[in-house]
Amino acid sequence: MSFRIGQGVDIHRLVPGRKLVLGGVEVPWEKGLLGHSDADVVCHALSNALLGALGEGDIGQHFPDSDPRYRDASSLALLRVVMEKVKARGYRVCNADATILAQQPKLAAYKDAMRQNLAEVLEVEPSGMNIKATTGENLGFIGRAEGMRAEAVVLLETAHTETLD
Ligand code: MG
Repeated sequence: MSFRIGQGVDIHRLVPGRKLVLGGVEVPWEKGLLGHSDADVVCHALSNALLGALGEGDIGQHFPDSDPRYRDASSLALLRVVMEKVKARGYRVCNADATILAQQPKLAAYKDAMRQNLAEVLEVEPSGMNIKATTGENLGFIGRAEGMRAEAVVLLETAHTETLD
């Protein structure tokens, strides 16, 4: 077995008049994340972690925000495209772990639905896709609910041995 690890971080600004989509789940709230796509920070952090593990750069390179095809795109669908790259390289996801840093709203009731969505896309058991949420302790842009941040790590595994150059 050969393993590769990847890490991803994403930040988006919160504004009124946008849907709040996290891990492919629409969370009812007065503000949503601003971005070219649906600005789902969790999917973006996970996509970056997968691309990182593959050594294939970041989602900005693969899905440029200057490209009208990605306007209001579902980031869960973009994550699916990234997973196709993972599989094309002969890898599978062992497990993934993500953290959402958000002051508001309370996310506890939505974490399970996010886990189910993401586990399905990453083709892991639900226990292989962990979601954590924490506030910003009222500090900084997260604490003032001006934006959200997500972080993710993934471990990929393959039966073949890949030569790193
Ligand atoms: Mg993003």
